[in-house]
Amino acid sequence: THFGFETVAESMKESKVGAVFSSVATSYDTMNDLMSLGIHRLWKDAFVRSLNPGTNPLTASSPSEITGWNILDIAGGTGDIAFRMLDHATNIHNDTTTRVTVSDINPDMLAEGRKRALQTPYGRSSRLDFLEANSERLDMIPSNSVDLYTVAFGIRNFTDKARALDEAFRVLKPGGVFACLEFSKVTNPAFEAVYKRWSFGAIPLIGQLVAGDRDSYQYLVESIEKFPTQEEWREMIQQAGFLIPENGWENLTGGIAAIHKGVKP
Ligand code: SAM
Repeated sequence: THFGFETVAESMKESKVGAVFSSVATSYDTMNDLMSLGIHRLWKDAFVRSLNPGTNPLTASSPSEITGWNILDIAGGTGDIAFRMLDHATNIHNDTTTRVTVSDINPDMLAEGRKRALQTPYGRSSRLDFLEANSERLDMIPSNSVDLYTVAFGIRNFTDKARALDEAFRVLKPGGVFACLEFSKVTNPAFEAVYKRWSFGAIPLIGQLVAGDRDSYQYLVESIEKFPTQEEWREMIQQAGFLIPENGWENLTGGIAAIHKGVKP
């Protein structure tokens, strides 16, 4: 900073981000509930509802639609988004062919995801698989092969966000959708003051008391602070070549989080 102090976030290199998520992997789901007072579940539900994944085989307009969506959930961690998408496709559309690849750079987060998957109907099904990969280098995924690319609470940890966006653009089919759920900027100043007290005060403390790891949670809070505003982030998505639908983003809980989407032309 201009005071000469390095914040935890500034001192984090890619390997350190890895260490953070290895350290939090086993307590990750409990901590999410505590830190967000359970609200992250509602945000994730809203995210998946807005994407409406899957196609009803009876109303599909072409045979290719019946093959289901090929979804890539980047920084998929312990599987929260993937399980919701498969539930949505199955329960809302009677679609049992849509499939999700959960991709994450961190093997410990993926291991938790695999463990959790066994408690779902998808644990041993070909509709779900796990891939260890850096979002900035997705060489193993063919170009123009993905219908929907999702990233929830992941992109702010990426070292090179523009490169990750370029990779998203490459792997998506024309007409495919990039969708991001991420912490964002609170718009109301009074609410922002309350939110800052919670995030800078309570979250590192909860991290220390529950997970025995203050630094990792301090890093998470600082990485939220450093993430671009809603407008700046929309601009970056556009720069990568995506078309931006409607207003460009949807704020959740006063802007604590936001959903951004882009369509590959
Ligand atoms: N999407 C999940 C959710 O919403 O619960 C997990 C989000 S968790 C806060 C962030 C995830 O991003 C971690 O699992 C971490 O390993 C992953 N991650 C960080 N940098 C990454 C990168 N360069 N490529 C892929 N995943 C990355």
